[in-house]
Amino acid sequence: MQVGELDEITARALRGEPATTEQALDILKAGDDETMSVVAAAGRVRRHFFGTGVRLNYLVNLKSGLCSEDCAYCSQSLASTAQIPRYSWVEDGEVRRAVEAGVARGASTVCLVASGRGPSRREVDKVAGIVARIHREHPSLHICTCLGFLDDEKAKTLYEAGSDRYNHNLNTAESHYCEICSTHSYADRVATMQAARRAGISPCTGLIAGMGETDEQLVEVALALRELDAESVPVNLLLPFEGTRLADHRELTPQRCLRILSMVRMIHPDREVRSAAGREYHIRTLQPLVLEVCNSIFLGDYLTSEGQSGRDDREMIADMGFHVEAPEPSTSGQICFGPEPDARSVVAVASALGEDTTGPVLVDAAGVAIRTRGIGTSSLPNV
Ligand code: SF4
Repeated sequence: MQVGELDEITARALRGEPATTEQALDILKAGDDETMSVVAAAGRVRRHFFGTGVRLNYLVNLKSGLCSEDCAYCSQSLASTAQIPRYSWVEDGEVRRAVEAGVARGASTVCLVASGRGPSRREVDKVAGIVARIHREHPSLHICTCLGFLDDEKAKTLYEAGSDRYNHNLNTAESHYCEICSTHSYADRVATMQAARRAGISPCTGLIAGMGETDEQLVEVALALRELDAESVPVNLLLPFEGTRLADHRELTPQRCLRILSMVRMIHPDREVRSAAGREYHIRTLQPLVLEVCNSIFLGDYLTSEGQSGRDDREMIADMGFHVEAPEPSTSGQICFGPEPDARSVVAVASALGEDTTGPVLVDAAGVAIRTRGIGTSSLPNV
């Protein structure tokens, strides 16, 4: 990068202004030897707007797999043969246990997700009932729903039930969209986020990097998310599940991932930027540096893949000098946890319940760790 350019980008971001297209491209094209400077600059912006707080989001997969859509990256599509857990709507009691586990380990947002093109009227009412109950039991918890395409009426139902956020990722640039999906359009995704916004729900929408897109297309989608006024921006790094159409994509390195996250931070300086799926797989030993750029991560496992343990997430945050943000800031701004679950006691409790305690065991040919615990399985969640 040219001398002084990073300072100029940082100064803009500290004023809440996004990087220009050219500046964002220069961040992506920076050399590996410049990446730490880029991360440090993004870190200044992150600390300016969010201090050292980290928001933990916790995924609760209400319904997994069997989706009619053909998104090339997705292990949950009917077109995918990935060895993921596949199940229909889980029982209410199981949802409650999953939510309780996430809340007890520091989650400030639970994300209620169901695979599929979009919910029926009956399914929206069912999820609205779940949202309303969680809202009553955990009034300060943020609830994000992610159910596919919505119209105004369905969005209104979710909002009135207490859904603070709706997630529906743009995933990739409009100019790249037809390469990754043929069963719906980019415009369909935009329309859903607009419906959520009209209903009063905070838009959560992000991208997936590593799907064969160009640098220009990465910047294109990052800027498009601004046009949707995204308040939360999850950045996924493609997990090349064996059995999906993108299984042979291997274009990301840890350094490039950090530049991608930094580019998104500089375009969304004052928004919640989340390091989402693929953090462990792609960023590997550099994972802690993610916290310099992002003020949000997922706790524990993802929808169909495993993350590092929830304990490791919290230790990483503490070791880096950051802190977990409480759902609503307490006087200290910190959240108080109970004692960390001891691995032996977890095994003992699980054994007593007749649960499988073998932990993460399923890794596919591409090295992607498949989720085998938590909701929809017989094993304890990874929190
Ligand atoms: S619509 Fe959602 S669940 Fe269905 S294939 Fe696409 S990303 Fe996967």
